[in-house]
Amino acid sequence: MLRTLAPYRPLAPPLVWSGLGMLVFAACLVGIFARPIGFLSAFWPANALLLGLLVRYPTLARPPAWIAAGLGYVAADLITGSQWGMALWLNAANLLSATAGWLVLRRLDENTLRLRRTVSALYLLLAALAASTVGALAGCGAAPVYFNAPWYDLLSLWFSTELMNYMLILPVVLAAPRADDPPPPTQGASGGSLFWRVAPVSSLLLAEGVRTVIGGPGMLAFVVPGLLWCALSYSTFTASLLSLVVCLWTMAGVATGVLNFTPAHASDVFSLRVGVTLLALGPLAVACASAARAQALRRLDHAVRHDDLTGVLARRALLKQGERLLARHQRGCAGAAVMMLDVDHFKQVNDQHGHGAGDQLLIGIARTLADTLRPQDLLGRMGGEEFAVVLPGVSPGEAQAIAERMRSAVQQQHFGTGPGTQPYATVSIGLVHSSTMGGDADLEVLLLAADTALYRAKAEGRNRVAVG
Ligand code: GH3
Ligand code: MG
Ligand code: MG
Repeated sequence: MLRTLAPYRPLAPPLVWSGLGMLVFAACLVGIFARPIGFLSAFWPANALLLGLLVRYPTLARPPAWIAAGLGYVAADLITGSQWGMALWLNAANLLSATAGWLVLRRLDENTLRLRRTVSALYLLLAALAASTVGALAGCGAAPVYFNAPWYDLLSLWFSTELMNYMLILPVVLAAPRADDPPPPTQGASGGSLFWRVAPVSSLLLAEGVRTVIGGPGMLAFVVPGLLWCALSYSTFTASLLSLVVCLWTMAGVATGVLNFTPAHASDVFSLRVGVTLLALGPLAVACASAARAQALRRLDHAVRHDDLTGVLARRALLKQGERLLARHQRGCAGAAVMMLDVDHFKQVNDQHGHGAGDQLLIGIARTLADTLRPQDLLGRMGGEEFAVVLPGVSPGEAQAIAERMRSAVQQQHFGTGPGTQPYATVSIGLVHSSTMGGDADLEVLLLAADTALYRAKAEGRNRVAVG
């Protein structure tokens, strides 16, 4: 039976594994040193950080990662005075917890893991629940042995701490900016003003102030409107970071008495931590849904603006962008050139090799034309086998040289070797320059003149450039 091979994943260099181990070590020290401060006793970032990195960088998820992380965990405990037995037991539970979360998340597609699907937040909750349950079950037996406490006390404490840390830290790691992120959308005049950019986070600060004065058990929910507004206004990363800060501050505010609410029993602490966790879930779900919507809109916009066969601009987008480009460059000294290109005897390709071969040839020609252009030039498919080009900031002489280069590039390109493909093609080009058309003609007028020149190129024998 044929088996599909797993995709090859290169092994990360040793430096990366040591870096991961050191990061886990540092995160454990943060957790350990935060313990005596009391209010941060619920802060244990190591497991969530490890899980987040393994999921974000799948090439890391190899046995050396677990070994390096294990060494980091145990070293942090030993260096701060823990016994060997306890260090091994508790950190085995930490590793098992992160592994359980990884087993859930590794099955998900990239979009979900980059928090760009509406269900992303729920999957994170599922992974966090699995990781916290496994960690708590594996670790709770240490309570009677090392802490002289019943196992179920540690079970509930471990579970609620883990759940909170995973739900607060994982989104920050997964949504942290990457090089291939799309650029942020350009805001309108009011949407982009400083006031509207700082208003959501200011509302959060205001809510913080109000709940510090009022306090009580309802204070947990006071920040929800501000968090939701932030989730709707900022990136998922920023919104998650704000949730993390607000939730940690809530725990700190409770522990130090600033928030005027003191848990009476251990069960209140459990309830508070789970409450804080679920508090962060709502804004996270909203941020994920916003990111999903933004991605869908970006794809839709791309599909509308581009020709689906060749990938170059569609007619309407070329006219719109070309008009803007032209308006900017006609006032400049060089002006702009406009071309109409038509594939010669294209009908014969369809007739001899079939429509599929014709399509492949159009794709090849569009790619060849695009390769000869500068980034600021526009190339669009006007319909059938006709293309248009707008060249901003070129002189008439330069434009003619570019047109000749495009014609010759198509003529020399070998487009296909297989049966049913058309190996060679030529194009005829009609070219006009804005300076010869009075300097203020709009794109429609220039395209019409270029089309007239194109007819001349066809009439004069094809595979040539005619200047209008
Ligand atoms: P000329 O040198 O005079 O331009 O001749 P031509 O055969 O290229 O021009 P004509 O206008 O007679 O034929 C254009 C053909 O392009 C006809 C049409 O079926 C074909 N065509 C239009 N759009 C597509 C397409 O998307 N894919 C394919 N394969 N063919 C297309
Ligand atoms: Mg034609
Ligand atoms: Mg043609």
